[in-house]
Amino acid sequence: MTMDNAYVKRVYNKLTESNAHETEFLQAVKEFFEAIEIVIDEDDNYEKHAILERLVEPERIISFQVPWLNDQGKIEVNRGYRVQFNSVNGPYKGGIRFHPTVTQSVLKFLAFEQTFKNSLTNLPIGGAKGGSDFDPKGRSDNEIMNFCYSFMTELNKYIGSDYDVPSGDIGVGKREISFLYAMYKKLNGPHLGVLTGKPTDLFGSYGRTEATGYGLIYFLNEMLAVADQSLEGKKVIISGSGNVAYYAARKVQELGGIVVSMSDSNSTVYNTNGIDLDQIEILKINSANRIKNYHTSDKETKIEEKSVWDIDIQADIALPCATQNEINEEQAKRLMNNGVKFVLEGANMPSKPEAIKVFKEADIYFAPGKASNAGGVTVSALEMSQNSMRLQWTTDKVDKELKIIMQGIFEQCVKACEDYNLGKDFAVAADIASFKKIAHQMIEMGMY
Ligand code: NDP
Repeated sequence: MTMDNAYVKRVYNKLTESNAHETEFLQAVKEFFEAIEIVIDEDDNYEKHAILERLVEPERIISFQVPWLNDQGKIEVNRGYRVQFNSVNGPYKGGIRFHPTVTQSVLKFLAFEQTFKNSLTNLPIGGAKGGSDFDPKGRSDNEIMNFCYSFMTELNKYIGSDYDVPSGDIGVGKREISFLYAMYKKLNGPHLGVLTGKPTDLFGSYGRTEATGYGLIYFLNEMLAVADQSLEGKKVIISGSGNVAYYAARKVQELGGIVVSMSDSNSTVYNTNGIDLDQIEILKINSANRIKNYHTSDKETKIEEKSVWDIDIQADIALPCATQNEINEEQAKRLMNNGVKFVLEGANMPSKPEAIKVFKEADIYFAPGKASNAGGVTVSALEMSQNSMRLQWTTDKVDKELKIIMQGIFEQCVKACEDYNLGKDFAVAADIASFKKIAHQMIEMGMY
């Protein structure tokens, strides 16, 4: 795709000048602008109301020092951030990521994407993201607690249950959320709803942990149905072995699919007859072990110190669930050569633009993260509702709501495909559907 519309081009060029080093952010905006150009072409109101200029500028970025005490009694210092990108659709909402690759650019791209993802859920939540370059790997519980307490000591000034409600992301699970929540309460009193993804005994929502992975598979089910197929017997490649990957894998298995691979940042385990998810649970969910320590007597199961995308595995479906930019052009071609017909993003922006081009040229079914991984933020928003109502729904009720909302997102994509003759280009469709809603809200509110 190219950028032909003069208004789109002008805003993008200006953005590249003022954010020259923010490569991930520029990548996300470029993909988005190329997708929505067709809509901009049909109505000058977007330019008249400076919609694009306003959409690419975060409402607020908070950057702060996080000093904390390690187990050797030494002070370490990391950098913390919260990017409050867009509140047109409601209170800021988006995860917190602790990973050494966290930069302002990464968080801006994630918060930008989150704005549109959240709009697709049809729930009243705006877009944000936060985090730190702190690496929790190899740190003791005590060090994690010290870090989280210090992080929240500063962050608490900028968030609130009706203002900005963070949740988890890479490196931030229930343990970290509990520590962050504890410090927020200590500083602000007995609040209930300022973070989501809390353990259920702290009034987190049932089903939040599983939500992103399960939601991804509910979306996949809708896509398979349109193609007159089902998950039964389908071979599924999954990258990652964290929260999103693991629960996606469990749901695939529950619905009759075969998970043929999972990975972490060093290694991949694979077997076209299926891998053992109980072992993944023991290694990666219940402890911080490595895939390379997966034990098996099955000669067909292989473990290699390689990315899953660099290995030839015959499969029907691929679910990238690890991190951004994990699939390049060559790896995308490998997937096509190995028979993959459906690629659904569980992670945020895991496919590079060249990889997406390969998927489109091969005319396979492709779902962008902002549509297919919206299950996590959906249940987070349902956790906000439950906390406000001072009640807790059953797993069953949450799961039913999640399914309905994922179907709703799918239907919005199908409608945009029909309205704009996009074939099965769900990537462009998701951008168009969410953009039109947010742009309309902005126009209604004047210079919000
Ligand atoms: P986790 O921290 O639970 O898991 C991340 C997984 O990805 C780990 O297995 C990790 O391996 C692996 N990984 C990280 N970097 C790489 C890499 N460069 N190559 C291969 N594997 C890698 O994170 P989540 O599962 O929560 O998040 C995964 C993705 O899903 C992210 O893009 C996140 O933004 C997105 N997402 C998450 C949501 C949620 O609810 N949690 C909601 C929506 C999107 P290792 O153990 O070696 O680090």
